[in-house]
Amino acid sequence: MSEDATASSPSCLSLAELCAEVESQFQERFGQAPQWIVAAPGRVNLIGEHTDYNGGFVLPAAIDRYVVIAASPSDEETARLVGADVGEEVVLHVRGSMEPGQVTWASYLQGVVAGFAARGCYASGFNALVRSTVPLGSGLSSSAALEVATATLLEAMLECELDPVEKALLCQQAEHKFAGVPCGIMDQFSSVLCQQDTLMLLDCRSQSVELVPLDDTDVTILIANSNVKHELTGGEYARRRAECEAAAKMLGVRSLRDATFDQVEVVRTALGSTYGRRVRHVISEIARTLDTVAAIRDSRWQDVGRLMYASHESLRDDYEVSCDELNLLVDIAQQLGETEGVFGSRMTGGGFGGCTVSLVKTSSTDSVAASIIERYFQRTGIQPTLFTTRPARGAHRIK
Ligand code: ADP
Ligand code: MG
Repeated sequence: MSEDATASSPSCLSLAELCAEVESQFQERFGQAPQWIVAAPGRVNLIGEHTDYNGGFVLPAAIDRYVVIAASPSDEETARLVGADVGEEVVLHVRGSMEPGQVTWASYLQGVVAGFAARGCYASGFNALVRSTVPLGSGLSSSAALEVATATLLEAMLECELDPVEKALLCQQAEHKFAGVPCGIMDQFSSVLCQQDTLMLLDCRSQSVELVPLDDTDVTILIANSNVKHELTGGEYARRRAECEAAAKMLGVRSLRDATFDQVEVVRTALGSTYGRRVRHVISEIARTLDTVAAIRDSRWQDVGRLMYASHESLRDDYEVSCDELNLLVDIAQQLGETEGVFGSRMTGGGFGGCTVSLVKTSSTDSVAASIIERYFQRTGIQPTLFTTRPARGAHRIK
């Protein structure tokens, strides 16, 4: 991808470059080399949106953008933490009571430290420096990357390796309890368990994972950040969850994973058309996710693309979590179409802003990105940020 297309990208450092910079920043701040360096990626969800808390399927990949933490032991009873991206230095408790306080960026780390402590694994004092190439608050899961990086650091520090599923769940709990965000399991599972060149089909009910290769170098994932975030996000997310729970209860099923298309009408009659549409989205999105896996396994990229557009329409019209800017990005991609090298496109993440994900022909990536940037800017006056990614490796220790 050309420099022009990524000109508005906040950071395009490779993982190796990022680690080298973090190491030297740590050295500069603390006067010694870090003993440990760990990395945990953000993620992009290819399809399966708002299905995780309904016990359904999701199909994310880790992106090659990471939260990196460098750390060394200190003589203190606390942890000193430098947030290089936020330009702040804070102190974390590693012993004694660790109650959730006012939510700040340090809450995500404190929650993970508390999760380890609850298992009897207490860290000693340490100094740490955090830096990331995952854009913050754009639906690419910088929060989970931060939690999972912290957990990976503690594993290294305490020489205790958690079971990967337990690790992901510990991080999810940290986000629930310390950041007050009732997220599903997708983000933390992705950052822990994803592997290079594969998508992760996650059954959010059984928590089982199946890896689906996405290693065809002719096909590239293109992420477009709308660079808008509408304030609705938190409240609307909670409302959608409540609507789904109410519909499941009315149907007498454990979650909408067990609902069928025949029941959409039943819900509509009992609870009204809004609920009917919500249920229709969840049922159809779960089916689309499984159909997408089958299509990817056969390299049927046009079919994958059709499913992505259908997912977007369902999120826009039935689930009502899209916004004008995301719709515009998808429309532009769809107008370019397969002749210009776009197979499919959809909003990704919770909605109301953030990013779209598109599948494009690798040879057309530059021209597609340039067209999207130009047309989106023309219509909105906003500079979008575009970058490509290959499915990346999950969290790991570097040093
Ligand atoms: P997303 O996970 O989609 O990026 P969230 O709102 O869930 O968006 O999480 C973003 C928050 O996570 C930020 O506001 C900040 O508190 C925290 N965060 C993520 N990455 C970093 C970082 N590199 N440095 C400091 N805080 C971070
Ligand atoms: Mg998040």
